[in-house]
Amino acid sequence: MGWKTLDDMELNGKRVLVRVDINVPIVEGVVTDSTRIRRISPTVRDILAAGGRPILLAHFGRPKGERRENLSLRQLVPTLERAFETRVQFAADCVGPAAELAAETLQDGQVLLLENTRFHAAETKNDPELAAGMARLGDVYCNDAFSAAHRAHASTEALARLLPACAGRLMQAELQALESALGKPRRPVTAVVGGAKVSTKLELLSNLIEKVDTLVIGGGMANTFLAAQDVPIGISLAERLMTGTAREIMEKAKTTGCTILLPRDVVVARKFEANADHEILPLGQCPEDAMILDAGPESVAAIAAVLKASQTLIWNGPLGAFEIEPFDTATNAAALQAAALTRSGKLISVAGGGDTVAALNASGAGTDFSYISTAGGAFLEWMEGKTLPGVAALIQ
Ligand code: AMP
Repeated sequence: MGWKTLDDMELNGKRVLVRVDINVPIVEGVVTDSTRIRRISPTVRDILAAGGRPILLAHFGRPKGERRENLSLRQLVPTLERAFETRVQFAADCVGPAAELAAETLQDGQVLLLENTRFHAAETKNDPELAAGMARLGDVYCNDAFSAAHRAHASTEALARLLPACAGRLMQAELQALESALGKPRRPVTAVVGGAKVSTKLELLSNLIEKVDTLVIGGGMANTFLAAQDVPIGISLAERLMTGTAREIMEKAKTTGCTILLPRDVVVARKFEANADHEILPLGQCPEDAMILDAGPESVAAIAAVLKASQTLIWNGPLGAFEIEPFDTATNAAALQAAALTRSGKLISVAGGGDTVAALNASGAGTDFSYISTAGGAFLEWMEGKTLPGVAALIQ
């Protein structure tokens, strides 16, 4: 893997600069979901237990280089104190004299939170001077913000090159899960890719056909693949201009030994709304004035058979219009099947990106997946086979 973890670092008596993602939702000054804060707690606790002094660096929202009080991290101090069960000091800047004094006087057992890194326009420019200012505050750098690792910013990239660097617990779990799914996976590997459009997932599909044994394509993007094979799709969501690309992907898959599984039957309706009149039709029979909103039972059975024969699953995107019943049926059935196989130890299942977390949680299957990434953009870029600057910078 090439990167270090907290276990590889000497932390006793050291100031540890920890890049975290604490972009929690706030309504009228109240944190309405503290999941992201709970997820970084193991890193903070482990540093404290090893005698280190955690100094948290984070961005919050998009202040675009301006100091904006509603995007100050100060408002998170009480929530952080509750989560870490210790005193959290706050410095009103992430570099400069105030931050340096706060870092120097930080006591054992306490945590220091630095102000929003994006109050400096230099942060998103990966500015070496800003990174050098941050590096003066710590002895060790720990990145626990996988969700920000696809951006080369001063606190995620340049800074990592200036200090001994390692991954935090959340980053470590995320990288290990992704490595087990696409790095050196147990085969056969199946990818399920759904969602609205081919155009937004082109790089994803191109990378996956090189790496997986079976690629299940569902959702709106499957319609584009069906149209590419001259299967009638009525007024379904599809990208007619992408049919050539879809054909290229299918051709390339033949050369890489990847089997593409498209819907075999479809659920069609005339309206995109919950409980719209609908019918299950064999492929090729979608009426001109109807739209395909989900995969049918035959398709679900075919997906189930593939999952049963797989050892590893990587999933992004719903198989149908999962927000409106009953067009969540195929997504729910496949998710529950993957969850059951995971529970019985037969499948490693990793999912993430965009609507996937919501779709899997709605199906009730989310908790049984081996790993669900909430990282969004970073997860997708990893699935696309891209090098994430924040991860690459940890390899020293
Ligand atoms: P994405 O963000 O690309 O993962 O796309 C997710 C969106 O695709 C969700 O809002 C789904 O409702 C939508 N979607 C999936 N399948 C279909 C379909 N057959 N027709 C229309 N929308 C769909």
